[in-house]
Amino acid sequence: MTTYWAEHACLPTGFATAVRIGIEGDRFRSIQSRANPRPGDVRLPGVVLPGLANAHSHAFHRALRGRTHNGAGNFWSWRDGMYAVAQRLNPESYLALARATYAEMALAGITVVGEFHYVHHRPGGGPYDDPNAMGAALTQAASDAGIRLTLLDTCYLTGGLTADGHLPLDEVQTRFSDGSVGAWAERAGERKPSDLVRLGAAIHSVRAVPRDAAAGVAESAREMPLHVHLSEQQAENLACQMFYGRTPTGLLADIGVLGPDLTAVHATHLTDADIVLLGRSGSQVAFCPTTERDLADGVGRARDLADAGVRLSLGSDQHAVIDPFEEARGLEMHERLTSNERGRFETTDLLRAATADGYRSLGWSDGGRIATGALADLVSVRHDSVRTVGSKASQILYCATAADVHTVVVGGRVIVEDGHHLLGPVAPLLRDALDLLRDDG
Ligand SMILES: [Zn+2]
Repeated sequence: MTTYWAEHACLPTGFATAVRIGIEGDRFRSIQSRANPRPGDVRLPGVVLPGLANAHSHAFHRALRGRTHNGAGNFWSWRDGMYAVAQRLNPESYLALARATYAEMALAGITVVGEFHYVHHRPGGGPYDDPNAMGAALTQAASDAGIRLTLLDTCYLTGGLTADGHLPLDEVQTRFSDGSVGAWAERAGERKPSDLVRLGAAIHSVRAVPRDAAAGVAESAREMPLHVHLSEQQAENLACQMFYGRTPTGLLADIGVLGPDLTAVHATHLTDADIVLLGRSGSQVAFCPTTERDLADGVGRARDLADAGVRLSLGSDQHAVIDPFEEARGLEMHERLTSNERGRFETTDLLRAATADGYRSLGWSDGGRIATGALADLVSVRHDSVRTVGSKASQILYCATAADVHTVVVGGRVIVEDGHHLLGPVAPLLRDALDLLRDDG
């Protein structure tokens, strides 16, 4: 058994001091607060938090960071740039980029990621020799980076939704599609989980998956985490209302997609009735604050959702920013801007979204907390940096950044030590991966 000692740690009962944490295999075996360190204990500096969950990721979007933010436009014009990258990916470049991106996540304290994966096939739509070659690249990438992955294999069948119905796939989108929900289920059914990888499914959106097919995805994804992009854009709501006579949430409710295994991603533009439907069904919602503000999506109704009983989690989505501290406080800060009130969420609520509820959304209910028997994932955050020195341990979430992460442990294994990832310097990994994708210098 390895035993750590921390001056401050966030336990399910709150912040505790002088905590000894025993880990055996991949689980916490003993947790003791107000305990003196003993010879042989490994000191964890700063404030120790449970592992942080990134509930919504598209790894390849990392290629757009720092290249798509200025000028006019909106989500739809940003998507054109994203499609240009999607078109150039192959299993080799996807592995390299995802490995480096997941290593960057590890440096930021992220211990589990939900990858919303839809780039399945060759450009033009033909399958690779291994039809799951792209998904395999992602699982390999996460294993190399040492973090947990939930592979949310995504069904994507149509090119968009208008008042007259669904549009055919465009040239780029053909590689996202299996052609039918049956073919999607057959391919996705070939995947295998492992110690660090669990399986989930996703409906890309009501734009990309017609009603009956969405019901088919939910049917074949029973007992798995199921994610869906929901109402990120007003245009989606409008088209859905005109074609189906329902909001996207109402449509998913009609066909039985809502429920405790479902996580709706973004859920930015909801009606009061949508919020009731999500709450009553026990559905979850993943907010992606840094993406939603970058893409001018709008601010979702986080407090109203939480009041309706919806569990919230957090994702970095397009990775313009990979910083779970920024996402977590973003939930509260955006509420302050829209409500003119502070304290819309308790710090413990924000921490739960960043940890246990993120783990739950991704099908890892046995993790996300520092408790005996739980998965041994933790993060220590420096309390002596220019950003954090002088802060209360219980408010570290409001001042720390990804750069303050000192140690990261996943399943008992140290993957980041003193701010260094086990794969070595991560910026060169990212640079080399990005070089494989550039065609414009
Ligand atoms: Zn997304």
